[in-house]
Amino acid sequence: MKIKNWEIFIFVLLYHIGLLALLPFAIPVFSWSAFIFFFVTYVIGGMSITVGYHRLYSHKAYTAKPVFEWLVLIGSLMAFEMSALKWSFDHRLHHNHVDTEEDPYSINKGFWYAHILWLFDYVREFDAKLVPDLMKNPRVMFQDKYYIPLVIAANALVVWFGCLFMEPLAAFYYGFLLRMAMVQHCTWFINSLCHTIGAKTYARELSAVDNAAMALFTFGEGYHNYHHAFAADYRNGIRWYHFDPTKWTIWIASKLGLTDKLRTVNSIILLKSLVQKDRLLIIDRLSHEVEEIATEWTHKVETLATQFDEVSSNLSKKLRELKGVSGAQKMNIKKEVKALRVNFNKSWQDWIQMTRIADKQFELEH
Ligand SMILES: [Zn+2]
Ligand SMILES: [Zn+2]
Repeated sequence: MKIKNWEIFIFVLLYHIGLLALLPFAIPVFSWSAFIFFFVTYVIGGMSITVGYHRLYSHKAYTAKPVFEWLVLIGSLMAFEMSALKWSFDHRLHHNHVDTEEDPYSINKGFWYAHILWLFDYVREFDAKLVPDLMKNPRVMFQDKYYIPLVIAANALVVWFGCLFMEPLAAFYYGFLLRMAMVQHCTWFINSLCHTIGAKTYARELSAVDNAAMALFTFGEGYHNYHHAFAADYRNGIRWYHFDPTKWTIWIASKLGLTDKLRTVNSIILLKSLVQKDRLLIIDRLSHEVEEIATEWTHKVETLATQFDEVSSNLSKKLRELKGVSGAQKMNIKKEVKALRVNFNKSWQDWIQMTRIADKQFELEH
């Protein structure tokens, strides 16, 4: 690979050398205030990227009040990941052309390419047509125009602030160098690890995977297979127990009137579309099998798929009925919904179990 972006290469190389070279001097000046300083600036930088750059600007998963936008546009200066406009442009390319030549950080070019090397190789051919909404946003355009002076001023201010509570070296090392490295590598891991190790529950045909461990470091972005399958959803971790602080922040902000129009994919429609996708994939694989196996499996797959379709349609219908009634009638329908939900979950479990066996037998993911 020939380096095309020398200035980025030198910047990234220098700060990594700085991190290593200063480490022996940084350890003795470590303190709990230094750790808190690192952690708070890491959270501000990282969350501004996930809440703002990613789910708001790249995917329009919700709308936000200008004051909320300013918070993420300023907070993102702690991340050093370019302006929101450029970041979102690259990211929309990634989603539109994932796993192809036009994907800026394609995993097909290797783990380290997707992680970091793409930064030195990628030449952005900016096309306003991909980001017309952002081109009309004065806040985004302001941040883009003055990004370099803003990022320098904000970080100088933060380090100066840290110096009030700790040794200047500690403020510089923990509140700038280490924090920036941490935010950047965590973002990059989404492009590398979250396209390599994990489960493909929602879109088997893509390289993106769900990786709960990565979600811990990336404020919920680890559920990347779901995200690629349903990118407009403001959530990445859709279950209540999924660690997705980005989703929680957007939700809490909506209660405070700072964000609005949070988009979600209806879970019944979601699972229905998955079953259809799986069904087509398995049927396609069966065409390579001997007739006996193919017939047996086709029957199994079609029976379960039809069953799931019926159960989910019934549940959707009852849920719609529930909206227009009240009193005793409502209680009765609620009971029916409860029973249908049990069926729905059971039917989904049956489907998952069958796909797991099919996965092993026919290697669906490859
Ligand atoms: Zn991705
Ligand atoms: Zn995305």
